[in-house]
Amino acid sequence: MKKNVVRIGNKLLGGDNPILIQTMANIKTSRVDEILEMDKDLSELGNDLLRLSVLDEEDAEAFKYLTSHTSTPLIADIHFNYLFALKAIKNGAAAIRINPGNIGGEDKLARVIDLAKRKGIPMRIGINSGSLPTSQVSKKSSVEAYIDTLKDTLRVFDKYDYHDLVLSLKSSDPNITYQAYKRAYEEFPYPLHIGVTEAGEGYLGALKSSVALVPLLREGIGDTIRISLSNPPRDEVIACKHLLKDMGLRKNVPTLVSCPTCGRTQVDLMKTVKIVEKHLEKINVDMKIAIMGCPVNGPGEAKDADLGLAGGVDSFLFFKKGKAIKSMREDEAVKYLLEQIDLLASKS
Ligand code: SF4
Repeated sequence: MKKNVVRIGNKLLGGDNPILIQTMANIKTSRVDEILEMDKDLSELGNDLLRLSVLDEEDAEAFKYLTSHTSTPLIADIHFNYLFALKAIKNGAAAIRINPGNIGGEDKLARVIDLAKRKGIPMRIGINSGSLPTSQVSKKSSVEAYIDTLKDTLRVFDKYDYHDLVLSLKSSDPNITYQAYKRAYEEFPYPLHIGVTEAGEGYLGALKSSVALVPLLREGIGDTIRISLSNPPRDEVIACKHLLKDMGLRKNVPTLVSCPTCGRTQVDLMKTVKIVEKHLEKINVDMKIAIMGCPVNGPGEAKDADLGLAGGVDSFLFFKKGKAIKSMREDEAVKYLLEQIDLLASKS
């Protein structure tokens, strides 16, 4: 089902628009200077939307300053107190995320809907495994519980004729997440924020998220993604960016090819890969870099790379488009490769 389009600040979400990356700040919103510094870093990495929690008056107030100092659309995340939602909207939040079940009743939800409608801002309503009503949790199928809860919730929004919605149905089980989003895609016209909740840490969390996200995205399901990790937000953005790039859904992201190492490796390949990976983080250009452990397979295995290194004995052979250029000491070679990467990026 083709999805409605909503506007979040200067970004469009849904329909045929590109899939947006989002993350959530892990510092208190009222620490505005730190939030702006984090937002700058995240934007340079490729983040599109930033969610900020609103715990108190101070956080809701901070939106006034923050929205006038960044072009990233800021989404206010509110639980329990509808007054904070009203204040965040008045102070310029580009969208809000609420759980209608914990905002204090329909009369209070109606006040939030009314103001969001008048300001023309969308709302993401999220059903998570932890927030399913007790009447639904005993259902045989968790997917049915998600869909029925969502239907009940949407009836309230229909009553107030508010349709500027983004939906999420996250479980920490990637298979349930996949099935719930598939059903939601078939049944509702609203754009979907997809992700696995509480996915865990590091590559294990990213892998778990991929179990749900890859098939959904392949089927054209999902308008904005978050990979929720027990890591700094920048790691979430990097994971989202590379997932979209590897699926052919985002351009201008470098590819780093590196070998797993073996008994032939006589350089510190893993350290070199880390350095190059870090250097490529904010280079928004399609290029392919290869770091291989040995000269026998190195240039050959990565012959379609723009630039690369192949390990020798405490040295690297630098190559360009599969052609060997020169051999250098490890540290010199890494420095030279980084310079060549910058040169290539500047020409693009
Ligand atoms: S590229 Fe060379 S060092 Fe790396 S895994 Fe292959 S054979 Fe081993």
